[in-house]
Amino acid sequence: MSGIDPSEIDCASLTSMGQVRTSNQDYFDVFDAYPGNRLFVVADGMGGHRGGATASRLATETIGEVFHATKAEAADTLFEAITTANQCVYQASVDDPELRGMGTTVVCMLFGQDGRVWVAHVGDSRAYRLHRDGLEQITQDHSIVGEMVRRGLITDEEANRHPRRNEILRSVGVESEVDIDVAQVVASPGDRYLLCSDGLTSLVADDEICEVVRDYAPEAATEQLVAMANARGGHDNITVQVIAVADARPEPEADAAALAGTESQGSSLRWWIGAAIVLAAAAATWFALGVVASPGSLTAPGSPDSVKEAPPAP
Ligand code: CA
Repeated sequence: MSGIDPSEIDCASLTSMGQVRTSNQDYFDVFDAYPGNRLFVVADGMGGHRGGATASRLATETIGEVFHATKAEAADTLFEAITTANQCVYQASVDDPELRGMGTTVVCMLFGQDGRVWVAHVGDSRAYRLHRDGLEQITQDHSIVGEMVRRGLITDEEANRHPRRNEILRSVGVESEVDIDVAQVVASPGDRYLLCSDGLTSLVADDEICEVVRDYAPEAATEQLVAMANARGGHDNITVQVIAVADARPEPEADAAALAGTESQGSSLRWWIGAAIVLAAAAATWFALGVVASPGSLTAPGSPDSVKEAPPAP
């Protein structure tokens, strides 16, 4: 277990209305809770101007409230938070005819103090992990085209142009109950994570996301990714959160130098003791051979050959 300290996570979030829409129905937030757990949330609302924005904000705020209030294990916390969010959004849509039918995607990432990362999602907002092996999509889209890609019927590129690309199979708040997927990964030092709405992934390919998240610090990475989606038409709202787990800490320089000095002194002392033992042994051997062998035939003392080749005693 890596023991990632959530307080040492560097993160940045950015949302953009895009170039076509007249409102931003995406929503995001970051919640901290004792003893150091940190929760990231991205939600992508749908259902009319007011409905979509209300659903994503209400779901995110409810998830944050449950996260602060509960003492449950991480997976149970995420289940409870999204289930409660579903009930709140659903009830609000039943109570207000203007909000009827609203819903939202949700993707949540919870960093625990034990180095584990829990990811829960509903819909097609995604979570990625950039590990030493490359970029890995942690979530699977709950969408028509996502299902078609998994079955090998269309490619990722075709999915982004498919007429049914906006149809999702699960959402928060549209029905009284919701199915939630929860996954868990173990964070390693240097890992980077990304949460985003489909306004990014429909316009920026995974290999491009990988390069940006790998090469830029979180704040610059969010700006770069949002700019790329906007430059390609920005047909949807775009929301991105980039999270960087600190690299393994190198030894502080002063300590490392002091340690090197201690090691050097220790090595030096051991060298002198070793040399003294070798010299004493050599002297003893020389003395013994000097007694039993003629000095002219004696080769350098210390090696077995020198003893073996010594002439017999007179
Ligand atoms: Ca969207």
